[in-house]
Amino acid sequence: MDIKNRLEDTLGKAISSATNEEIYNALLKIVQDMASKNEKNDSKKKVYYISAEFLIGKLLSNNMINLGIYNEVKDILKENGKDICEIEEVEPEPSLGNGGLGRLAACFLDSMATLGLAGDGISLNYHLGLFKQVFENNLQKETPNPWISKNSWLKKTDVTYPVSFNGLNVNARMYDIEVTGYNNRTNKLHLFDIDSVDENIVSNGIDFDKDDIEKNLTLFIYPDDSDEKGKLLRIYQQYFMVSSGAQLILDECVAKGSNLYDLPEYAVIQINDTHPTMVIPELIRLLVERGIEMDDAIEIVSKTCAYTNHTILAEALEKWPISYLNKVVPHLMPIIEVLDDKVRRKFDDESVAIIDKNDVVHMAHIDIHYGFSVNGVAALHTDILKNSELNNFYKIYPEKFNNKTNGITFRRWLMHCNPLLAELLDETIGDGYRKDATELEKLLAFKDDEKVLNKLIEIKHKNKETLRDYLKKTQNVEIDADTIFDIQIKRLHEYKRQQLNVLYIIDKYLEIKEGKIPKAPITAIFGAKAAPAYTIAKDIIHMILCMEEIINNDPEVSKYLKVVMIENYNVTKAEKLIPACDISEQISLASKEASGTGNMKFMLNGALTLGTQDGANVEIHENVGDDNIFIFGATSDEVIKHYEKADYVSKEYYENNPAIKRAVDFITSEKMLEVGSKENLERIKNELINKDWFMTLLDFDSYKAKKNEAIEVYGDRMKWAKMTLVNIAKAGFFSSDRTIEEYNKDIWKLS
Ligand SMILES: *Cc1c(COP(=O)(O)O)cnc(C)c1O
Repeated sequence: MDIKNRLEDTLGKAISSATNEEIYNALLKIVQDMASKNEKNDSKKKVYYISAEFLIGKLLSNNMINLGIYNEVKDILKENGKDICEIEEVEPEPSLGNGGLGRLAACFLDSMATLGLAGDGISLNYHLGLFKQVFENNLQKETPNPWISKNSWLKKTDVTYPVSFNGLNVNARMYDIEVTGYNNRTNKLHLFDIDSVDENIVSNGIDFDKDDIEKNLTLFIYPDDSDEKGKLLRIYQQYFMVSSGAQLILDECVAKGSNLYDLPEYAVIQINDTHPTMVIPELIRLLVERGIEMDDAIEIVSKTCAYTNHTILAEALEKWPISYLNKVVPHLMPIIEVLDDKVRRKFDDESVAIIDKNDVVHMAHIDIHYGFSVNGVAALHTDILKNSELNNFYKIYPEKFNNKTNGITFRRWLMHCNPLLAELLDETIGDGYRKDATELEKLLAFKDDEKVLNKLIEIKHKNKETLRDYLKKTQNVEIDADTIFDIQIKRLHEYKRQQLNVLYIIDKYLEIKEGKIPKAPITAIFGAKAAPAYTIAKDIIHMILCMEEIINNDPEVSKYLKVVMIENYNVTKAEKLIPACDISEQISLASKEASGTGNMKFMLNGALTLGTQDGANVEIHENVGDDNIFIFGATSDEVIKHYEKADYVSKEYYENNPAIKRAVDFITSEKMLEVGSKENLERIKNELINKDWFMTLLDFDSYKAKKNEAIEVYGDRMKWAKMTLVNIAKAGFFSSDRTIEEYNKDIWKLS
């Protein structure tokens, strides 16, 4: 049956008389039907990508693209007076992740299925996601983000596993979301849950009783863990995820004929950051329960698990006090003690121990000793792991360390979000790049083709108009598509340095007030959620919102400069913002951003990077060359030296640099206090002057100079267009298909 008949059949009425909701539900069913036909059980070995986060975004359009029916459906809808974009809006976006790490996991699922690899995801079915961000009085407020409805991509299964905590036994139930590859197989994302979870215990924003595990276990991803109860709940969640996952893995392998001693021939478990680390002791425990000797079990698990490190920020490498683990998972402690004991017998080096002298368990250390692979996520990041952060481990296990530079799926981040650009590429270089991203390089042949360059300019402008209309509709802000769209969208964190961008904006505002007009008008766009307990991050949001109010209500300034903070930044918003961007802000303090993937999405969509030599910016720089990127700031070596010598004193920059002093002082000026809160503004100002752990003021001058240079270059439209063309052409390396091929070749080794 063709799609049109199927759609009418499922609807039970004419398309033209159906509501958008009805059409969405019908398409969901049709897509699920088609996707499940591509499920395969043909491979002996399978990858289990286990991750606390999968930031999958909306699925309808992407699944239709991957199944090859998107254009047909779009046309059928159009013929019947319906708009695919409005159908898309019906779908809620699940917020099952924070940011880059969870989005990476989602891109990897897409690429595994697209490359025909047997690879499933394992995570939790958080009912209310991270949180939905709303702004009130220029402050972030958090509310629940429910996404599960009667008709959703989730399929309830009959698969259940018992999971035991200290004095509490629950039954894990598996839900599945199908992952459709592009013209290829369907894999699965398994999300575990318990039936007793109760969304009604949430009140007053995102508050809930943290003791009531049976009701709260899978309510939120990353419940506030600034207190002990929050930390214990995190341990409950992590153990629940890995115990259910481990039981599933063993069941599937046994069903395929494994005798468990040969487990590594059937399964490879990729541990995404330290959150799933307990899968190692849990698997050992389960193998021993099934009659395998402890030493053998340890050996088997060590050949099955591989670990990805995502950060060198000390506060993000998880450490759990033994006393906490004993409260939640006492049955794992004897195993963790054996693991620690083996390490201590072998290595006389306190820094590589699993349990430290303060009775704290270092989760990453379990992963490194008892996994067979340790990878970083960009070349610079892996070098820093090897040479400093994890150097003591690298000296023990040089063969385990490897780099896998992150990537993004071009299906979502080009074909879906920027159809105009995809069409231009089809016309110029053919559609081979859709399967083989390196073919984008063919675009270089058009570097001096004015017609193509003008087309690029025209597409960017159209995308900017689309964004302008969207922001008018959703946030009631007015922006001008003929200004430079300068965009910084990512989680709010001091190391990502949104505050540096704000200081530039304050400086520019004050310059305009003095009559110094910028070379081109600028629209500065931010989007970021701050962790609910991260005070300084919320203060930075406050500062952005205050500047937005001041500038946009000042007709003298807003001709040349506008500020827009996107509410509730998520994947859907990213898909609308990225194709419309001119300048991509990637301004983390060098050495602190492990990779970044937003930088790759922007490059692919023809934005130019304004960035530090950090994470994958370094590789973007290498790919496009000095002439097609705006690089500024201290290098990672310089930054690391500053930390070693503890010789960076922000106050000296504040006192000796008049532009910095003027901008920082403005934070608590009368103008700001009129629209903002004194407590928040004073705190962030004080932080910048007296601490500034991420060296904002150090890079202020070079940032300002480089950004002004970018704004100047923008005036030469042809030169700019040529630079964007080179960026698009060189983006092929950053396809997650390339990343996944490398994981498979070096780590997973599926045939
Ligand atoms: C890509 C993406 C990120 C990661 O952005 P970075 O700039 O790499 O931190 C975060 N959130 C969403 C919604 C994304 O799509």
